[in-house]
Parts: sequence; C-alpha cells; structure tokens
Amino acid sequence: MTRIYKTGKDHHQYGKHLSMETKEKIRKGNLGNKLTDEQKKRHSESLKGRKFSNEHKKNLSNSLKDKNKGKKRTKEQRKIMSEINTGKGNPFYGKKHTEETKQKLRDARLSQKFDKNTTKPERFIRSILTLNGVKYEVNKPITGIAEPDIFIKPNICIFVDGCYWHGCIKCGYNNKEKNLKDKNVDKKLRLKNYKVIRIWEHDIYRNINKCVKNLIGL
Ligand SMILES: [Zn+2]
Repeated sequence: MTRIYKTGKDHHQYGKHLSMETKEKIRKGNLGNKLTDEQKKRHSESLKGRKFSNEHKKNLSNSLKDKNKGKKRTKEQRKIMSEINTGKGNPFYGKKHTEETKQKLRDARLSQKFDKNTTKPERFIRSILTLNGVKYEVNKPITGIAEPDIFIKPNICIFVDGCYWHGCIKCGYNNKEKNLKDKNVDKKLRLKNYKVIRIWEHDIYRNINKCVKNLIGL
C-alpha cells in the first residue's frame, strides 16, 4: 500500500505554526486517550508501505539532532514537561504497585547492586540453595588455590562453569588450556580435603533435575 502525503506548499499547515495554546489543547485532548487494538492495527498498516527518500531521511535525522540543541526551555515549558512525567500525564499516576511487585523490584535492585560479576546460571544455583535453606558464601577465596563461585561450610566448593569460558566440549567449545587449569584446581582442592562440584552451564539450562539432585545429595 502506498500513500501520498501532502508535503510542502500543498499541506494545509504549510507556513503556519501552532500557538502554544493550541499545542497545549491538543496535548490535553490526547491525554489518557488510548488507541483501540483496531486503531493501532490501522496505524501500523498505514506506516508499513511508507518509504522515505534519502533526502527526507537526512532531513528527519537533522531535525531530530538539532531540535533541542542549545535551546533553553522557559519555566513554563519545563513545568509542562515535568507534569507530563510526574503528574496526571504519567500513565502510572494514582496507581500503586502491589506488595508482590514491590518485592520483585527490590530483588531486582539487589541483584543489580551486588551481582555484577555473577552470571545468570550461578544465580540460579544460588537460589536453589537458598530455597532449600542451605547457607553458602560467594567467591570465598581458598588460600592460594581458587575462588569457588559458591562455598558451603565446611568444605564444599561449587563451580558453575560457563560453557564458552570453560571450554565445554559438549557444546562445541574448545579450550584445553582452561580444562587443564580447572582440573588442576580440582586436584589441589581435593588434596586439601575439599569436595569439588562443577556444574556446567548447559546442565542448568537442559538438565536442571540432575543439578538439583547433585546439590541436594551433598
Ligand atoms: Zn556445555
């Protein structure tokens, strides 16, 4: 579907500018307006066949770039902007999160703060331990040997190995150097009476039952 858009002098708004008052009216009129699914579909359809010439694209891009550059907004404009974000203009205005959602948000924030270096599969294993009431330490250094991802007192070291980084052959990665390094670490730990458990990332995704059994059997 192609559409002809009136541009330039043919456009009824050509050369005209909307007053702030009119803009405000339009904005208020649109507030809280929700498009029906039917309307959204039509809108999307109408945009599909639309093609812009390269020149037009360039103009658009320039107009977006320069629009607010170096411009200072008046107090009035700033107030309007702020109202859009915080007042009734915000779709969340007057609504409250449920306790459940709040907890989720809290958890998310916590994991952002402290788990920067923790991978997803590792977090998953940790949550299984937590759910089973197992206490553990994260990245506890075992003098001179390694820092297990998870350590359970008195002597259990759990490593959650990413398939790529640890050269998992099953997943088609090859890293003999890393394999050997890991094996040496295991050996050293076992010599000092530590119990070593390695969990492959792919097992967490594909065979979680096995992982859980391994962990619970500790
Ligand atoms: Zn793998």
